[in-house]
Amino acid sequence: MADAIDDRVTSILGQLRSHGGRATAARRATITVLLEAPRNHLSSEDIIREVRARQPEVAESTVYRALAALEDLGVVEHVHLGHGPSTYHLTGQAHQHLVCRQCGRVVEVPDSEFAELSERLSAGYGFEIDPRHFAILGRCRHCRSRRRNPATSDAGPA
Ligand SMILES: [Zn+2]
Ligand SMILES: [Zn+2]
Ligand SMILES: [Zn+2]
Repeated sequence: MADAIDDRVTSILGQLRSHGGRATAARRATITVLLEAPRNHLSSEDIIREVRARQPEVAESTVYRALAALEDLGVVEHVHLGHGPSTYHLTGQAHQHLVCRQCGRVVEVPDSEFAELSERLSAGYGFEIDPRHFAILGRCRHCRSRRRNPATSDAGPA
């Protein structure tokens, strides 16, 4: 398992170098953290904590810069799951998110679910959607089946 992760880190770092990026220790650690927790939807603060658990000498700003560099190179992308801080994914593990407004559950679905909508909007409006950038909010199967909790928005006191 650890070896498989190592191989993937090495291959992503190779990708990074071929795009003119530098393969620093902080970038290696950042990629490792993202690879090891693909479904944990880590915020930049979570990533900093995890990276520093491995390499305490890495400065917070270094991790921010590593994330920015990895994003510029298309290796990492951030997504907004709701009102909180954005979370990070390796682009190789990208998927669309459905987020329940009631319980916060995150359902991951493949991009292909949006293919038809994507084609329709492109044909009708000439607009190319980026369906992954924001989550689709709604109510999950579990909350919908719980009848005592009628549909309410997540808006707090106005
Ligand atoms: Zn995700
Ligand atoms: Zn954004
Ligand atoms: Zn729910």
